[in-house]
Amino acid sequence: MPTVNTRPGLSGVSTAELAAWFEAHGEPAYRARQVLTAVWRSGAGGTADLTTLPRGLGARLDTAFRWSTVADETILDSDGGQTEKALHRLADGASVESVLMHYPATASRRARHTLCISSQAGCAVGCPFCATGELGFTRDLETAEILDQVRSANWRLQAGERITNVVFMGMGEPLLNLDRVLESVAALNDPARLGLGARHITVSTSGVVPGIRRLTALGPQFTLAISIHAARDALRDVLVPLNRRWPVAEVVAAARDHARSTGRRVSYEVTMIGGVNDTDADAEALASLLRGDLAHVNLIPMNPVAHTPWRASPMPVIERFAAHLKAAGIPVTIRRNRGVEIGAACGQLAAELAGAPAAPAVAWRRERLEAASARALRGQRSEEPVPAGVDA
Ligand code: SAH
Ligand code: SF4
Repeated sequence: MPTVNTRPGLSGVSTAELAAWFEAHGEPAYRARQVLTAVWRSGAGGTADLTTLPRGLGARLDTAFRWSTVADETILDSDGGQTEKALHRLADGASVESVLMHYPATASRRARHTLCISSQAGCAVGCPFCATGELGFTRDLETAEILDQVRSANWRLQAGERITNVVFMGMGEPLLNLDRVLESVAALNDPARLGLGARHITVSTSGVVPGIRRLTALGPQFTLAISIHAARDALRDVLVPLNRRWPVAEVVAAARDHARSTGRRVSYEVTMIGGVNDTDADAEALASLLRGDLAHVNLIPMNPVAHTPWRASPMPVIERFAAHLKAAGIPVTIRRNRGVEIGAACGQLAAELAGAPAAPAVAWRRERLEAASARALRGQRSEEPVPAGVDA
């Protein structure tokens, strides 16, 4: 077994902790600020690049901390360079993905560089349309491992550009690693570190109700997105197995309280799966659940994933679904898929590298999914257990 490097990553150390370290080592406070600026604002590859640091101090820093906790293993481009997917290798060999999306400036809007990051290696929730769900859960990410995905993307941008938006929509369920996600958000917000406004950060959850309630008590920190996918429990039990623990009405009640208490609109995500969750009945159920709420719905055509029998809903079906919601007064957007050809959905690249599952296993899984979704469409609740490891 290789020895795993467990020194804390510098990006995850708070400003106060770093100041305390410098004080304890008899160094003036401005050195801590110098290092913070170098960590977040320079493209320095290590303490050796910090020529302003006295000799010896860089070496002592290196003994205590790691400059970066992620190594970029693969970077793939698509959409003519507008989407960039990175596979980051962690010290213990686990890997996670981030996706960088460039949106050019328009007449009314500056250019945006949105980064989608991972909060866990793998995921315990096990949504069957998601490549990460298929991989299972490996472990929670450390705060620095979350933040170093952002630093890595920042360095890949052109000089003068920086990440303008961060979304926690990569691998993992952020609300099941909430302490570290909150530390990461604080670092992203901190003007001495990334300095990103709360409105430019989105955290997406599959519906961990205690986590949503904890966020509400903290006040507005970022935009909350709920991966709802289905408004009927029978179908949501299959699509988001966490629903067997926290049913959809409880999730929406928590999200509604969040919107009321913070005054911030909640986003709902629906991955549109042909013939599964895109029927008129589904649109009506969602409309009646969200009518009158401070909410916005995003409809996203499903990216194909090897182990499922499912495909994206055809565009006319998505448009019809959207029209239903609009008629109920619910704002709705159809989101164009980015980076489909590089597998930009959640965990697809990592799943590919993990190797294709054996054909009989895929066939068995597809059969079970078809049977489960057919039962759900008849309104029968799932008898499968709540996935292990999802209790907050
Ligand atoms: N675990 C959290 C955040 C990461 S998943 C959550 O589920 O919200 C981020 C988003 O990617 C979710 O809305 C999820 O439903 C969506 N997603 C996963 N697999 C997808 C696929 N194959 N096609 C389209 N969207 C997908
Ligand atoms: Fe986990 Fe989100 Fe994928 Fe579901 S969609 S398995 S919650 S990462």
